[in-house]
Amino acid sequence: MMLENRQVKLIDENGIRVDGRRPDELRPVKIEVGVLDNSDGSAYVEMGRTKIYAAVFGPKEVYPKHLEQPDRAILNCRYHMASFSVDERKPLGMTRREIELSKVIRQALETVVFLEEYPRTMIDIFVEVIQADGGTRTAGITAASLALADAGIAMSDLIAGVAVGKVEGRLVLDINDLEDKYGEADMPVAILPRLNSIVLFQLNGRMTLEEVKQALAMAREGINKIYQLQVEALKRRYSVNQIDEGQ
Ligand code: UDP
Repeated sequence: MMLENRQVKLIDENGIRVDGRRPDELRPVKIEVGVLDNSDGSAYVEMGRTKIYAAVFGPKEVYPKHLEQPDRAILNCRYHMASFSVDERKPLGMTRREIELSKVIRQALETVVFLEEYPRTMIDIFVEVIQADGGTRTAGITAASLALADAGIAMSDLIAGVAVGKVEGRLVLDINDLEDKYGEADMPVAILPRLNSIVLFQLNGRMTLEEVKQALAMAREGINKIYQLQVEALKRRYSVNQIDEGQ
């Protein structure tokens, strides 16, 4: 969502952004795994003021039954923004944007889950945005892949995502809502960090090919940092469980 008349200075003469970050700096990232009692797997991801929970249920019996696949599981994904997650209340119910984001998140996750390991089942993934300040689809994918791992579902890799933007002619990593709205371009990217494949790539606005290449390199750097935090969160979760079981 970009606005035409820019009244906000997004980057100062020293190259510092509205929230005090350097162009290649992520927002403070917080990641936790196994945060919800009533799901099979869950995760919480905070990127600055963007706050997201992901919950996974399954593999379980397919409903409605006629959707069942004899050779693989089906993935269902619902991305949803709480109506209080943004300044201007989001209408209740699913908007067209949420339907689109549910689809792109599902398509990214389908590339890592070994669906053929779970024939005749379905896996439900819920991405709940509690507070939105830009980059919710990418933080949503980061959280959902962790929730799948927490549910013990076989996967080839985790997924981490981040959006690179262009503001006042400069590329900036992990854009916030203000940079998204008043900037010139927004490029959300999600990557399999170990396998190094891109599973989500979108571009809203204009960038030259050279800028896209630079933005991708910037995204990779940020994603490697997020991936380290994902791994640490999984280790924290499971090393605590091992201690509990030993007691
Ligand atoms: N946003 C909003 N109201 C809406 C949808 C989005 O205020 O109904 C804000 C929210 O902060 C979101 C940002 O616009 O994070 C950017 O939205 P976009 O569609 O680019 O997706 P995102 O960057 O969250 O993946």
